[in-house]
Amino acid sequence: MSVYEKYETVVGLEVHVQLSTKSKAFCADDTRFGARPNTHISAISLAYPGTLPRLNKKQVESAVKLGLAIGSKINQESRFDRKNYFYADLPKGYQITQDASPICIGGQLTINANDAERTIRIHHIHMEEDAGKSIHDMSPKSSFIDLNRAGVPLLEIVTEPDFRSPEEVDVFMNTIRQLVRYLEISDGNMEEGSMRCDCNVSVRLKGAETYGERCEIKNMNSMRFARRAISYEVKRQIDLIEAGGKVQQQTLNFDPVTGITTPLRDKEDAHDYRYFPEPDLPPVHLSDSFINNLKTQMPPLPQELFKQFTSKFSLSDYDATLLTEEKETALFYLDLVKNTPHHKAAANLLINKIKPYLNEQKSSVATFPLSVKSLADFIQLIEDGKVSNTIAYQRIFPALIETPTQTPLAIAEKLNLIQNADEDFLQQLVQEVIKKYPDKVTTYQKGKKGLIGFFMGEVMRLSKGKADPKATNALLRKVLEKQ
Ligand code: ADP
Ligand code: MG
Repeated sequence: MSVYEKYETVVGLEVHVQLSTKSKAFCADDTRFGARPNTHISAISLAYPGTLPRLNKKQVESAVKLGLAIGSKINQESRFDRKNYFYADLPKGYQITQDASPICIGGQLTINANDAERTIRIHHIHMEEDAGKSIHDMSPKSSFIDLNRAGVPLLEIVTEPDFRSPEEVDVFMNTIRQLVRYLEISDGNMEEGSMRCDCNVSVRLKGAETYGERCEIKNMNSMRFARRAISYEVKRQIDLIEAGGKVQQQTLNFDPVTGITTPLRDKEDAHDYRYFPEPDLPPVHLSDSFINNLKTQMPPLPQELFKQFTSKFSLSDYDATLLTEEKETALFYLDLVKNTPHHKAAANLLINKIKPYLNEQKSSVATFPLSVKSLADFIQLIEDGKVSNTIAYQRIFPALIETPTQTPLAIAEKLNLIQNADEDFLQQLVQEVIKKYPDKVTTYQKGKKGLIGFFMGEVMRLSKGKADPKATNALLRKVLEKQ
């Protein structure tokens, strides 16, 4: 057993989710990403003396929705605190956050990593604001500051130290991303920094009851980097312990170029944030009716839909995963199966034809031109054996997109694609094929029954896809046996 196998990885996350509200957490400034630097900066964002914060209702609603989705207890009397520190991108000199009394308490999220179900407990979710952005790589001599982001609303999800591998962290972050998109509270876009996490990492001997000392890797906004950072850090800590050393509690930075973590600060010079209650904002009182009203607005959640798709519609885990990735696809599927009993065929159509089509067009189901009724008819046409799956996908689907007002049947007829099960029609084709390949007929009759596929293919080709496969197959077998 390698020395590394003696140890268990332990990780806890602090996930920051940037909310997609129109305005900032405590003022009306625009929150849009990518605007010219320092254009969305009112006196409040710049913390001019005498300005006062005012809470954004959307931020509160977003927090409650996320809390409801993961089974948190909603704190009906939460409070804001000031977290004091000095930095050039923090005009106020403090961040408004929630420390002692956050808006959501507890909760959990079940994830599926490495084919095992794992439950990650949530410690709490709190509301806060973002700082501005310091830019250190534009000039060799100066740093730049963009305050557009100062005051943008965030939710911070703090988990218990329940992760046991970097893969679980990765899956969890993707699950959160999917969830906030379903709830329409954030775009979950990691590249633009809408989701980032701090990873608290420690190791302990397998079977040990207490946790080891932890280090915190700051600000991971790529899951690929986060996995590498955690793996590196676990190895570093084990090597240190095995060499007789002790892990010191530290805040670390991960450098994706070198692949190593380096200390930003250790425990001795850890910030003393001097938290105290924010005097400019009253406690957030949430009435029962406010919470109940949000409950009624909750969309179906991905994990519920996954269960419904696999049990009620008997889809495979694979299909159900693909269909529930995005809410609009899942809802479209639900709409479609209201119109057709062929659940698997509907899943196939959505996964193999409609989604690739939409990707290609860079559009979404919201603007897809075909109605679910028409798609249901399309599926029925195949199920009734009027057209083959291939012909339907390759010929009828594109024609239907061109003229969405026509029925799939009308198009199939117009293009002369209706499959033919007529005995005379098929007999002619079968005879032609048999005459063409006497050797293969003999081989078939000597017992190589697998050749039926070859004969089928030939008849199909001759008929330009119009021969009814079931009837052709039956006829071929009959004729071949007789000869
Ligand atoms: P603090 O108050 O010092 O920030 P918390 O107890 O609130 O510390 O924990 C912050 C984060 O660190 C949480 O995500 C938690 O799960 C994680 N964490 C705490 N202890 C450990 C540990 N020993 N190993 C890994 N993660 C830990
Ligand atoms: Mg912390």
